[in-house]
Amino acid sequence: MADAAYPPEAPRGCPLCPRLAAYREENRRKEPAWFNDPVPSFGDGNARLLIVGLAPGRTGANRTGRPFTGDHAGILLYETLKAQGFARGEYRARPDDGLELVDCMITNAVRCAPPGNKPLPVEEATCRQFLQGRLAALPRLQAIVTLGDVSRRNVLKALGLKGSAAPAGHGVEFDAGRYRLFNSYHCSRLNTNTGRLTPEMFGAVFAAVRRHLDG
Ligand code: URA
Repeated sequence: MADAAYPPEAPRGCPLCPRLAAYREENRRKEPAWFNDPVPSFGDGNARLLIVGLAPGRTGANRTGRPFTGDHAGILLYETLKAQGFARGEYRARPDDGLELVDCMITNAVRCAPPGNKPLPVEEATCRQFLQGRLAALPRLQAIVTLGDVSRRNVLKALGLKGSAAPAGHGVEFDAGRYRLFNSYHCSRLNTNTGRLTPEMFGAVFAAVRRHLDG
């Protein structure tokens, strides 16, 4: 369950997942100028909306140190957030672009880049304490957008529910305690290039969040 006893962010050099720590070190050896550490959440500490991704991309958030920044997925995500008033400024795929999130925070279910973009179930479970801490540290939180099924299951488990407690599927909404969960397909390059997720489908999720928060 969301628990203030857990820290909302993983520490730099987090040792909890040996495979992910080894992968970070391998990336650090190859690319010493990259961030190569657990990527902290980004956004407004008073947010009513939390967006939960999967995990940092190796050459995106793991490189830049900001969720979805430098990842192909960030282009659609930040454009959509701006369109719904959850971000302002220009997204230039770098952490010093001045982009600000408004009433919104972005985090990841797993904070370190996993090989092949696929965290192991044990890594999801180990990292979940930070998701629990993140939820507990947002006093005004009302809405959670889950990007993809790993995110959806981990958010449910972080809230003390079974991963099967709520229906899957793009556009599904579900009340879990004081939060409304909004499922979305992940805005990955694969999903957008194949047309599984269109900008309209993605925008509709955030329009529903906007109606829920302000309606
Ligand atoms: N970058 C992130 O930070 N998270 C994702 O889920 C994908 C790309």
